Amino acid sequence: MDLSYGPEYEEFRKEVRAFIETHKDAALPATVRLDVGRGFRKWQQTLVENGYACRTVPAEYGGFGAEPDTLKTIIIDEEFRAARISSGMTNQGISMLVPTLLQYGTEEQKQRYVGPTIRGQMIWCQGYSEPGSGSDLASLTTSAVLDGDEFVVNGHKIWTSTASEADMMFGLIRTEPDASKHKGISYLLIDMKSPGIEIQPLVMMTGQAGFSEVFLDDVRVPKENLVAERGQGWEVGKATLLHERNMLGAADQTDTMLRGCFDVLEEYDATDNAIFRDRAMKIAARTLAMKYHSLRMLTDRLKGRSLSAPALITKLNGCQLNHDIGKLAIDGMREAGLFRRGCERARDDGFWQSGYMFQLGLIIGGGTAQIQKNIISEIGLGMPREPKTVVKAK
Ligand SMILES: Cc1cc2nc3c(=O)[nH]c(=O)nc-3n(C[C@H](O)[C@H](O)[C@H](O)COP(=O)(O)OP(=O)(O)OC[C@H]3O[C@@H](n4cnc5c(N)ncnc54)[C@H](O)[C@@H]3O)c2cc1C
Repeated sequence: MDLSYGPEYEEFRKEVRAFIETHKDAALPATVRLDVGRGFRKWQQTLVENGYACRTVPAEYGGFGAEPDTLKTIIIDEEFRAARISSGMTNQGISMLVPTLLQYGTEEQKQRYVGPTIRGQMIWCQGYSEPGSGSDLASLTTSAVLDGDEFVVNGHKIWTSTASEADMMFGLIRTEPDASKHKGISYLLIDMKSPGIEIQPLVMMTGQAGFSEVFLDDVRVPKENLVAERGQGWEVGKATLLHERNMLGAADQTDTMLRGCFDVLEEYDATDNAIFRDRAMKIAARTLAMKYHSLRMLTDRLKGRSLSAPALITKLNGCQLNHDIGKLAIDGMREAGLFRRGCERARDDGFWQSGYMFQLGLIIGGGTAQIQKNIISEIGLGMPREPKTVVKAK
């Protein structure tokens, strides 16, 4: 099987390598967490300007404006990964909102939000989940009524990642109380500095407050911040979730983690041990399967086929695999695996220990593993739909 991409693309690969060679001293290592990353804007901007991040975002919205070419995107990923330098920020704004706005946003919304977001100047959070609405997201009750030119929003979001750092939220809000559950929701862009927003950070087991509760009390949102039509929010929100699933389980991130894990195993002489070698081989095989799955998705994308079920598989497998790689690295360190972030003897300031705990959360975030399996079985394998529980009124 010939997996090379042909002469035109190998020329492009040389260009990418030359860029990396020229900029490698200014580059950030691939292991640095760039999700919020205001401090990492400079590197992000260099990447955007040279077409190595957000490459296909049209130039009129602040991007590089390259023609969509998935093979070139893959070559960039491959080369940055091989050089072990960061290929840019992957946060909810860049990876989820920008493609959604390009598909559904008004001209004014694209002009206003896309450029600052891809350059890391505008940070977003995702206001979907509520205390009573997680897996059954369409039951959400945070609501808005139109008052003149503004929506007035009231309600309570939870598990909102990066809310305390965010400038803006993209949220699902019930605006059509008389419509059916899914048709009553709208997709609103909410300024996090608006009066009436209160953010209460929630501490995760990593010890960091990665997400928050967000209370919205008579928050006024200009009606031009509605994306698509009133009541079309479920459709728009699902498009955003598809991008989230690709972001959370991306095969290139897994491959980078696996390489880092192998370094750890070597450093602690764990590769001399047959049990560790066996575990490492099994995990390497799963990572390779993920890579081929992402190549299959590439074919699907080029042929215009639906990516819904493959993206669910990416999310389900990628997040579990990242968690398992973290566990292998920690076990490989033996006693040193017990050191946590902040302890001076922790390798890479506890990157592996924190990552192991954080990745467990990502198996839940963006839709739990059980929900991913349900949907894969229904839309991917054509199995019967899950029975709905009907509560009858007395
Ligand atoms: C690290 C992290 C980051 C997050 N970031 C965000 C964010 O930025 N924005 C946001 O809006 N939300 C975020 N979330 C919330 C996340 O989307 C929800 O936690 C998730 O959708 C599950 O909802 P829930 O917590 O209400 O659990 P529930 O829906 O109450 O589920 C509880 C358990 O029941 C199982 N279950 C429920 N229904 C079914 C079913 N039909 N079949 C089988 N099993 C079922 C679930 O799999 C789970 O194990 C984040 C969560 C985590 C952990």
